[in-house]
Amino acid sequence: MNIGIIGGGLAGLVAGYELGKAGHRVTILERDSQLGGQVGTLEVGGERLERFYHHIFTSDSHVRELLAELGLASRLVWISSKVGFFRDGSLWDFVTPRDLLNFTPLSLPNRVRLGLASVYIQRQANWQKYEGVTARDWIVKYAGRRNFEVVWGPLLRGKFGESYDKVGMVWFWGKMRLRFGSREKGLQSERLGYLNGSFGLLVDELARAILRAGGRIFTEASVERIAVENGAARGVQLERPEVLSWREENGLAKDVHDLPEDALPFDAVIATVPSMVFERLVPDLPVDYVQRLKATTYQAAVCMVLTMARPLSHIYWLNISDPTMPFVAVIEHTNFVGAERYGGKHVVYLSNYLSQDNPLYRQTPGDLLQTYEPHLKRINPEFSLSWVESYRLFRDDSGQPIVTTNYSQKLLPMETPVGGLYLANTTQIYPEDRGMNYSIRLGRDVSRVVAGKSRLGGVLSRGNEK
Ligand SMILES: Cc1cc2nc3c(=O)[nH]c(=O)nc-3n(C[C@H](O)[C@H](O)[C@H](O)COP(=O)(O)OP(=O)(O)OC[C@H]3O[C@@H](n4cnc5c(N)ncnc54)[C@H](O)[C@@H]3O)c2cc1C
Repeated sequence: MNIGIIGGGLAGLVAGYELGKAGHRVTILERDSQLGGQVGTLEVGGERLERFYHHIFTSDSHVRELLAELGLASRLVWISSKVGFFRDGSLWDFVTPRDLLNFTPLSLPNRVRLGLASVYIQRQANWQKYEGVTARDWIVKYAGRRNFEVVWGPLLRGKFGESYDKVGMVWFWGKMRLRFGSREKGLQSERLGYLNGSFGLLVDELARAILRAGGRIFTEASVERIAVENGAARGVQLERPEVLSWREENGLAKDVHDLPEDALPFDAVIATVPSMVFERLVPDLPVDYVQRLKATTYQAAVCMVLTMARPLSHIYWLNISDPTMPFVAVIEHTNFVGAERYGGKHVVYLSNYLSQDNPLYRQTPGDLLQTYEPHLKRINPEFSLSWVESYRLFRDDSGQPIVTTNYSQKLLPMETPVGGLYLANTTQIYPEDRGMNYSIRLGRDVSRVVAGKSRLGGVLSRGNEK
């Protein structure tokens, strides 16, 4: 089959890679000038770095398998992470059971209760029993109101804004299982994985493999419309015909290329774009399907990357439990991967999740840095803007799907009401939280569904691993 794939993030690239291996001709169409989507990169001190902070957990088996298959396993390193908590103007280490016992914003009984609730939840294998419960209600009931107010409530609010009390317990369960699953024996510390050279290397290797299998990759190729005839997808129309065409020659290179202005014909089309984009691309979708698309919404991600002459703190992942602060986490990448990799520069991500109508979401990078400055001083009183050598701001409208209660009933299948048109995006990841591991799984799953429809065959499967 001749298959068009909209979106050159991990889901689209993995689908293209799998379908290419199975003998299909794939064309990747990516709107951005680079591939990778949410795992796209920038350069700092001569080294590539993710635009949005990225690490993996030990349980991320799809990432590990794919890295091994693409010859990148030796670049994967496992590092003990340093997690902290900012509360009442103080910075608390939050890694070991002893750190929890030292966390005096909570009374001793509450600290013990928090620890017990954390261990209990990560030991539960049956997530289905949490489908109808919100995270807030479960936490208040089992961990206690004070623990919710001090620890988990601010994190839920930070990530989901006004929707925080609608988030399903299954989302929280998935998050806790991942984090505790990545702990060393005895719960002493958490090990997180990073790809030396950035996860951009995984993106590059997927692109190379697709090109080697005879596939085509175009960037700056924004799809405007999916052409539908007699209820079936026939191809796609681009916003403008001039695109960058990728080739593999001494590394990946790009040439300007003109594609026909009328629709590019395909036998099948896979869309890996967010649901709100998908809805705009397809004319005349049935009303009930559009309602289902609209039923899952997202928080936008906004992330500022600072490169600095000095470190801000000793913590890698600093959770902010203070509603007056304009970000929810400070992720000091160079407390995870050494600053020497980035020409001695210290890299700090300031992360926030917002609804798109929040004024903070549209602030210019310079204004946002001014907004952040007094709060950075609260974390480190010596901080000064003169430390900042460069700052870049990245936004993603679909940073985090809002996973509400009974989400399994909202999940859209990969097959759509249009014949030969498939959807595979992060709203379809469940019961786990979105992550590279699950976008890789999405790509693999959708490739099986599409191949199962072709004369080349293939196994039709869909399901979450236990
Ligand atoms: C702030 C942040 C931090 C994260 N941290 C981690 C982490 O630590 N570990 C982890 O495992 N995961 C992390 N993730 C999640 C991970 O990056 C994603 O799950 C994964 O990369 C999503 O891949 P995708 O292909 O499903 O979607 P995307 O990466 O969003 O890809 C969709 C692609 O479609 C393209 N597109 C959109 N519209 C069009 C159009 N009209 N025409 C053509 N192309 C179009 C987009 O440009 C994009 O490239 C993080 C995500 C965010 C936002």
